[in-house]
Amino acid sequence: MAVQKTEAIIIRSYPLSDSSKILTFYTREFGKVRAVAKGAKRAKSKFRGNVELLNHGLLIFFEKPNRDLQNVNEFDLIDCFDQLKQDFDQTIYACYYSELVDAIESEGGANQDVFNLLIRAFKMLPCTKDIPLLARIFELCLLDKAGYMPIFSHCIVCSELLVDVAARFSDRLGGLICWNCRGQDLHSVSISSESIELLKTLQQIDMSSVSRVQASQQNHQELKMVLSSLIACQTQRQIKSLKFIENLK
Ligand SMILES: [Zn+2]
Repeated sequence: MAVQKTEAIIIRSYPLSDSSKILTFYTREFGKVRAVAKGAKRAKSKFRGNVELLNHGLLIFFEKPNRDLQNVNEFDLIDCFDQLKQDFDQTIYACYYSELVDAIESEGGANQDVFNLLIRAFKMLPCTKDIPLLARIFELCLLDKAGYMPIFSHCIVCSELLVDVAARFSDRLGGLICWNCRGQDLHSVSISSESIELLKTLQQIDMSSVSRVQASQQNHQELKMVLSSLIACQTQRQIKSLKFIENLK
């Protein structure tokens, strides 16, 4: 049994008993780690309220190889994202980012880029006006870092370049298909040329540039439809916090 120490973000939390919690951490060095925080719900717990959802800290755990559930020894807080948690919308979106990382990343695979992306996205939330657009950039970055980057530059079937033309999006094929190839996926959905150009832009910019991008209501709807269908197709999972965000509207 080895003692491991790594930076971690709590991306999921649920009760194990009246006093303990099961936590899913996304860690810098080990990827996803599921562990029990014994006594975390007690008033005099050694964790002192640090093991809350979205918190970033230094995790020390006893690693038992081939065990699905580890034991948390310590979790020293680095950042609890106080500013973000004071705003309901920002908190919901931070939960959405966490759930997405949980759904896309498999256990046992570390990806420092994903870890850094999640921290940066949390920090960007309080200083971003168009939070849904920031979410679209986050989704594109996460898909890219996880190896699922969709193709928006050309038809995925015949390779014809798609510039300033409407096309169809196929979540099954992972990209756009031109009008001539539409029969390749009868469930593909149409997307306007403006939204395609916007997706290409969002694929290339950093999250910090989100305020420089303008998106219409139609763009917002199309981008959300395209990326959420792609994520659902890749993860084969319903993202609960996304449904929650939709129901708020
Ligand atoms: Zn084509």
